[in-house]
Formats: sequence, structure tokens, C-alpha cells
Amino acid sequence: MLISSVFSILFATVCVIAMVSGILVLQNNRKSAVNKSYFTLMVAITVWAAGLAVATVAPDKTLSEIWRRFSAIGWGSAYAITLHFIILLTDIRIRRRKKLITVLLYVPALIMILAFALPMGINQHPYQLQLSKYGWVNVPRNDVWDMIFYAYYLSYTILGLFFLVKWGKKSNDKVSRQQARSITFAIFSSLLIGTITDIILSSTLEVFPQVAPIIMLIPIIAMYHSLKNNGVLTAEPVLKKMNYLSIVISVSLYLIISFFQARMAPGQDSQGLFELDESMVRGIITQMQMIISIFLVLKERKPGFIASVLINIWNLLSAVIFMIKHETTTALPGIMSYIGVLLLIFLIRSYMIKGVNFIERINAQNEKLVESEKTLYHMAYHDSLTGLPNKDSFFRHLPFMLSAAKRDNSHVGVLFIDFDSFKSVNDIAGHTTGDIVLQQISQRLFSCIGKKDMIARFAGDEFIIAVADKDGTKEIATICTDVLEIVNQPIAIYEMEYFVTASIGVAIYPEDGDGAETLVKNADMAMYAAKRLGKNQVVYCSPMMKEKITKESKLTNALYRALDKRELYLLYQPQVVVETKEIYGYEALLRWNNEDFGLINPEEFIPLAEKTGLIRPIGLWVLKSACQQLKLFKQLHSQDVFMSVNLSLLQLKDPAITKKIKNILDDTHTEAKNLKIEITEGDAFQDEPIIHRRLREIKDLGVSIAIDDFGTGYSSSIRLKNFPIDLLKIDIEFIRGISNNSEKDKALTKSLIQLGKNLGVKVLAEGVETEEQYQFLREQECDYIQGFYFYRPLSPDEILKILTLPRG
Ligand code: C2E
Ligand code: CA
Ligand code: CA
Repeated sequence: MLISSVFSILFATVCVIAMVSGILVLQNNRKSAVNKSYFTLMVAITVWAAGLAVATVAPDKTLSEIWRRFSAIGWGSAYAITLHFIILLTDIRIRRRKKLITVLLYVPALIMILAFALPMGINQHPYQLQLSKYGWVNVPRNDVWDMIFYAYYLSYTILGLFFLVKWGKKSNDKVSRQQARSITFAIFSSLLIGTITDIILSSTLEVFPQVAPIIMLIPIIAMYHSLKNNGVLTAEPVLKKMNYLSIVISVSLYLIISFFQARMAPGQDSQGLFELDESMVRGIITQMQMIISIFLVLKERKPGFIASVLINIWNLLSAVIFMIKHETTTALPGIMSYIGVLLLIFLIRSYMIKGVNFIERINAQNEKLVESEKTLYHMAYHDSLTGLPNKDSFFRHLPFMLSAAKRDNSHVGVLFIDFDSFKSVNDIAGHTTGDIVLQQISQRLFSCIGKKDMIARFAGDEFIIAVADKDGTKEIATICTDVLEIVNQPIAIYEMEYFVTASIGVAIYPEDGDGAETLVKNADMAMYAAKRLGKNQVVYCSPMMKEKITKESKLTNALYRALDKRELYLLYQPQVVVETKEIYGYEALLRWNNEDFGLINPEEFIPLAEKTGLIRPIGLWVLKSACQQLKLFKQLHSQDVFMSVNLSLLQLKDPAITKKIKNILDDTHTEAKNLKIEITEGDAFQDEPIIHRRLREIKDLGVSIAIDDFGTGYSSSIRLKNFPIDLLKIDIEFIRGISNNSEKDKALTKSLIQLGKNLGVKVLAEGVETEEQYQFLREQECDYIQGFYFYRPLSPDEILKILTLPRG
């Protein structure tokens, strides 16, 4: 009985191994025909081995024969399936009647099943069963049917071997050849051993069990590995050789202890064997089985899980069969424990899968994060219209180019490119076309530069190129001419041709600066010079330009401290009534006396104050000082006087400007009607509705509004009509023309005055220096005059003197 059980366990082990490898192969690639055929083969071998496992230890001859017949379904088909598998694996091309040949391939298998599996009467006595120490064993009769089987099995195996050898010879890669060799060897050896055991030994020895399915393990493993290496089976990463071995060991261990369990049939005295109480031994065995099952799931993941499930189901079924057969309940606790273990295994597996999924999700999320980071990076450092790097990107990379140049003692040219009158392309063709033009131009520019150079879109129609020049400054000069040339070529869009030119300013490292910021600033400056010189040309940064920039930056620094250091002060230029020549108001004009630079022209420092935003605090200081001064002036005048204060566009854009003016008026106890705000025509008629609204708010305070430098901004009379204006200040240029006897300027001045009259607002002429000018303006009925002819801008003390001394 002991030996028969060992055989039975070996057969069961074959079942498990075959099923596990079959399922693994299929799971890894369900679509592959080779894998599907391998799985079918494993099912056949499982049926074969399972049948034998039961048949060997069956309680009687009839039952043993039933299981033998069941087993025949497996072995009967196994050889045909093996050949089919080899055909698929070795990729033998069957040219015609593929389906028919495949069906024919299985005919012998069908005959075997009919003869040995089904009690149909074709083969009256397929088995000659004898009970031996190996359990129920078949002694082959070697009749016709047996001969047919031998023929089938030998011919199919030899044909399979033939295909494999051919495949090995044909394949030109080493791996395939080696695979072919190992499978050939495995099949050949199993054929040899199988023939010896099942045919020769069974026939010559009196009794010998058929062990073919156990021998089949050799080709199973060989084929499994072949599939794995072949790429047909994409092996699971966790599946290594060691895992397979540990599964085999665990499963065998499990089956061995199951065997001891089976030995403990009810009523038998096991105490002699183990010197232990029977139920205790059963308990220990169940615990061990459980430990092995859980170990398999935990350690070997998918294959372990499959093996674990299979052995537990096997045990569960045998326990159920045992219970039914013996009509006993002794196996019930065992059954419960198998069910429990199965549940546990599934739970563990599902948690493990969840864990794996979770990790996969985290990985996927990480990947996504990296991806979006990349997009963000791209977005942050690239211009969306042209795809070129942007300003930030340029400033990030230029320092690297500069330090490389420093190392090699070479030059870097920074080219600031601005298209001439690009605005007109937008105005005429629309922004969409303008965008296409920009895209095409950027592509052209990109084609001009070398591998080590860099290009970026700075803003609108401004581009910048950095050229790494190892050859003095030749390369820089070449690229400049190239850029001018390719930009000049017409751009055709929708059958329209656009002509664009560019102004280029160049600054060169190290001569024109050693930092990115300075170089770009100098190149920008040179570009403006190119524009001034008539556009469509290249201008290199000059020492004069650099000086100007240096002075500008020094002035800017000084300006930041000017208010605190009390370097700013105001002069007041009286404005007089044309008819009476009496002072009716003053314009506050800002002055800056710096300790290093001396007196600085407002035309020079006011743009700087506007660029830096300093004009806001300074402007408020002007407003407050002027209002305070007005109080003193008022005391010296018998009638009402105005104080005119200049306001920059930046100040007008301040949403709180009206409130701030109101506060200053309140703080200095100034009446709103005595304050006048001057804003240049260009600023006032900007295309921004917000300016109109601001002016309206200021006007609503009671403050009056003057349009400064009038006549230079081409504002239409319709817009003027809608604006809350009290005074027009005719620009000095027109007045100059009067003394130059320019009929044109005279006519213009005349019409400007007329325009004011038509609009119902007062008119002031600025910069009146001569009697002639004064007389002309008088004739034209201009209302007020401001100019050196009457007064220069004066300090409060000087004004005091004028007002207290009666004029002669
Ligand atoms: P603006 O508002 O047009 O000021 C009139 C300018 O003409 C003043 O120059 C004044 O000195 C000058 N001027 C007056 N009469 C004559 C004349 O008969 N002949 C000549 N040739 N010039 C005359 P200034 O003071 O140099 O101011 C220049 C500009 O600076 C101002 O032009 C104004 O735009 C700006 N500015 C001055 N102070 C301020 C201020 O407090 N805030 C703001 N935002 N701008 C100011
Ligand atoms: Ca002014
Ligand atoms: Ca002016």
C-alpha cells in the first residue's frame, strides 16, 4: 500500500506541475496559438496523471478501470497534441488544406479514446488489471489495440523529433538552435525512458506500473523554458528558476504529508506509528498544510497561488470523496480546514493584487507627475506661438554660454532683433495672419543659427539670438547679414505677400558687458539706434551707448534716494491772461539737484522715474508740495489762482489716484477748483477706456483738466468733445513756428485755437518767447500764455518778489 500511495502522490504532483505551468503560459499570452496548444497539452497530461493517481489506489478493480479509462482521454490525446504543439512551435508551414491536416492529426487520438476510454465495445478488454504492491497495475496484453497505440505513439513522437531537428538546423540564431536542441533531447530521453518503463518493463516484468506521465515532466519543463525564452511566453518578472523549484518542493512536501494523512484511515491504529493521538496528528498535518499553502501564496505569488489552490482543491475533493465512500464524518474538520485555507489564500492573493495595483497606480501617478512637470517646464520656458524658448529660458542659458566663452577666450554675440513696423502687418492683415508671419519668420531665424547658438522670442515681434563665436567676431557678423537677408524675403500667406524688415542691435561679450542682463540691455539700445538710423540695418553697441546706459543706471540708483535726500524741489512758472497780462495760475515743474550729477534735466530723469515706477511717490509729493505752495500764493493774490500739476500715465492708471488726490486736497485744505491736472495729449487719448473714466472721476472732485502738448497727438475732435476737458495747452513747437514765420504753423495754431473755441474750452499757448508770438496769439484771441517772454519757471522766493514788487 505504501508504494502504491507514493506513485499516486507522484501522479498528483505531475497534475499540479502541469496545470501550474499550463495556466502560467496561457495567462502570459492568451492569444498565442503555441501557448494555447501548450495549455491543452497540460490539461491532457493532468487528466492522464489524475486518472492514474486514482486508478492506482482505487479500492476495487471496477473503480480502478473507470479511472484508467478516464486517464486514457489524457494519454490518448497527449501525443497528437504534442505533435500539434511542435508544429506550431517550429513554425512549419502547411501550405494547403491546413484545417483538414489539423483534423487528420487528431484522428489516431480519437481512435485511442474510442478504444481505451469509452466502453463502446470496439476494444473488449483494454485493460488487464492486477493488484500489486504498486497498487492496481495494467499488464499489457500486447494485442492489436496495444500495437496500434505503440504505432501511434512512436510515429507521432518520431515525427515530432524530426520537426524539432529540422527546426534546429534551419534556425540561424543561436538561441533557437539551443532551444530546439534541449527540447529534442528532452523528448528523446522521455521517449527512451517511457518506452523502457511502460512498454519493455511492463511487458517483461510481471507487474510494473506505467510511469509515462511522470517521465513527461522532463519535456514539460523543457518546453516551458523554451516558451519562456522564445518570447511567446512573456515570463512574469517574479518567476525565476528558484521559484519553480521551491513550488515543486513545497507541493511535494504538501502531498507527502497528505499521504500520511491518507494513511490514517478511520479505525486504524496510528498510535503505533507516531506514538501520538490520531486527532492530534491530523491537526498537526492540517496546520502544516496550511503553512505550506500560505507560504506558497506569499512567496511565489501567481504560480504559488495557483499551486496552492490546486493542492487544496485536490485535498478537499479527496476528503469529500472519502467521506462519501466511507460514509464517515471523520474527514469533516479537514474539509472545513481546506475550505478555510482556500478562503484565506484568496483573501491574501486579493490583498496582494491590491497592493501591487496600488504600487502600480503610484508608479503611474509618478510617471504622470513627471510628464506634467515636463510640460510645465516646457510651458514656462517656451513661447506658445513659435515654440521657441522664451525670455526666461534665454536668461537661464546665456550665462552658460558666457562662461564657456570665458573658458575658451572666445566671443558671444547677442543680437536683439525687432521687426520694423510689424504692427502694420497686424493692422492690415489681422492678428491671425500676423501670427503666421511670426511663426514663419521664427523658423527662418532658427535656420540661421548654429548648433551652439541660441534663439528666443522675447516679446511680440522681438527676437534675440546668442551666437557663440570662436572665430573672433566673424561668425556674429555673418549671422547678422543672414538674418537681414532672410527676413527681407517676402512671406507668402494665402496668396498674399508680406514684406518685413528688421532692425538688429548687437552687443558682444566680453567687450560690451560680462553679464547676460547688461549684454541684452546694450543690444536693445543698439537696436533702438538702428531704428533711429532708418531701420532695416545692423548697429553694434558703441562706447557712447554704453556710457549712456551706465549713466542711466547710476541716475536710476540715485533717483531712488532723491526724495529722502530732499534733492527734489519745485519751480513754478506763472501763466498769464493774454488780454491783461495778469498771472492767473502757476505750473509746478519738478527739479532734481543731485550731489554727484548736479542739476538734471526733467526730460532726462522723468522718463527714468516713469520706467521704475518711482513717478508714483514722486508725483504725490509734487502734488502735495504744489498744493501747500498754492496756499501761500493765494494769500498774495486778490483773485483766485490755479495750480497746474503734471500727471503721468502711470499715475493715472493707479486705481486709487482719485482718492489720493482727494486726500491731498483735504490735508492741505486746498479747494478742488484751484487745482488743475495736466496730462499730455498722447497719454489722455490712449486706447484705454480706463483713462477716460479716471479723468472723469478726477473732474468730479471739482479739479479741472488740461490737455498738455496739444496738437502733437492727432486726436480727433469727436473724442475731444467727449472728454472732460477745461483747457488745451498748444504745444511749444507750433508757437516756435510763429516766429520762424512758418505760415503752416501759424495756420495750425490758428485752427487749434479755433478748435478750443468750438469745443467751448479755454486755450493756452506754451513756450511764448517773443513779442511777435504774443501779438499773433493775441490777434487769434488765445486765452492764456505761458513762456519765457513773461516768466521763466521760478522759485517761490522769486515769485514772492514779483508779487510784492509792483511791475512796471
Ligand atoms: P511740460 O509739461 O510741457 O512743461 C513745460 C516745459 O516747457 C517746461 O520744461 C518749461 O520749463 C518749458 N518752457 C516753458 N516756457 C518755455 C519757453 O518759453 N521756452 C522754452 N524753450 N521752454 C519753455 P521743464 O520744466 O524742463 O519740464 C519738461 C517736462 O517735464 C514737462 O513738460 C513735463 O512733461 C515734465 N514734468 C515736469 N515736472 C513734472 C512733474 O512734476 N510731473 C510729471 N509727470 N512731469 C513733469
Ligand atoms: Ca505741463
Ligand atoms: Ca507742454
